[in-house]
Amino acid sequence: MLNIYGLTRKQLEDYFESIGEKKFKAQQVFEWLYQKKESDFDKFSNIKKDVIEKLKTDFTNNKIKIIRKQSSTDTYKYLFELEDKNYIEAVVMVHNYGNSICVSSQVGCNMGCAFCESGRLKKVRNLESHEMVLQILKIEEDINVRISHVVLMGIGEPFDNYDNVISFINIINDNNGIALGSRHITVSTCGVVPKIKEFTNYDKQVNLAISLHAPNNEIRDKLMNINKAYKIEELMDSIKDYIKVTNRRVTFEYIMLQGINDTKDCAIELSNLLKGMNCYVNLIPYNETSHIEFKKSSQKTILEFYDILKKNNINVTIRREFGSKVSAACGQLRANFEEGL
Ligand code: SF4
Repeated sequence: MLNIYGLTRKQLEDYFESIGEKKFKAQQVFEWLYQKKESDFDKFSNIKKDVIEKLKTDFTNNKIKIIRKQSSTDTYKYLFELEDKNYIEAVVMVHNYGNSICVSSQVGCNMGCAFCESGRLKKVRNLESHEMVLQILKIEEDINVRISHVVLMGIGEPFDNYDNVISFINIINDNNGIALGSRHITVSTCGVVPKIKEFTNYDKQVNLAISLHAPNNEIRDKLMNINKAYKIEELMDSIKDYIKVTNRRVTFEYIMLQGINDTKDCAIELSNLLKGMNCYVNLIPYNETSHIEFKKSSQKTILEFYDILKKNNINVTIRREFGSKVSAACGQLRANFEEGL
């Protein structure tokens, strides 16, 4: 049976038409689920009893379960149990402009980035769209906040689960649903070029972030398996096309790894690679974990790297270090929770 939280409004409209009902009922159901936060079909008071009975036979409304929560001043990290007893994680970061959630898109990840704690568990399966929607709803319910920004940067490669990710975005962006603005939604990919091309023609103004982490193929080959399939040149061509068609700025994520990708030569090479592009670079201080041997670049090195990019007219920021106390930072999901499972 399908979970009702996994249907776009259009799919729900088609469903109502298929059972001989008016399609505006989809809007009413969306309002119950996402605005009044009511999941009990019997409480949908403006919908006829026989239609409610039909909904109950055709859909479930099961939610994912919160198994554990850790928090620090600016961060909440959640471990969820799915219906098939798989586990996923999500993180909420409190910013001065709102609350941002980092959503997982798969159970595990097959991309095998060398520095990534989250990808140590191989992919078990893709998440269904309702399992992504429910990460937002459960956290909003638990800490009584409104999530204002969504980044698909948790466990998993979103473009390895493209159709479900697009459905998820369509559901949360719907004005009758959670109504998250498309400019507040970011999809982050390690560089699945065919899907970047497909995403170029997606009709919503969603942000694209690229996990680049190296200025050349030699270093990127060592850090990211995806680079063996799609070289930097091919990746850059697809991103340039994306920018040309969408007129949108792309973010490049760059984790600073001591002695690997943080030299002055790397900064110059990165500047040359990105020269003239409508983009900005997010330098991310690496969060050392107990399992992976990479070291964090020093603050001095990060600032020197930053200065070189700046001097070369590349827009660049250094990411504030969120949640490192609760292993909620980039690439650290599953670093601690799994020991207790
Ligand atoms: S960085 Fe992202 S794509 Fe790479 S292994 Fe980790 S979760 Fe997967």
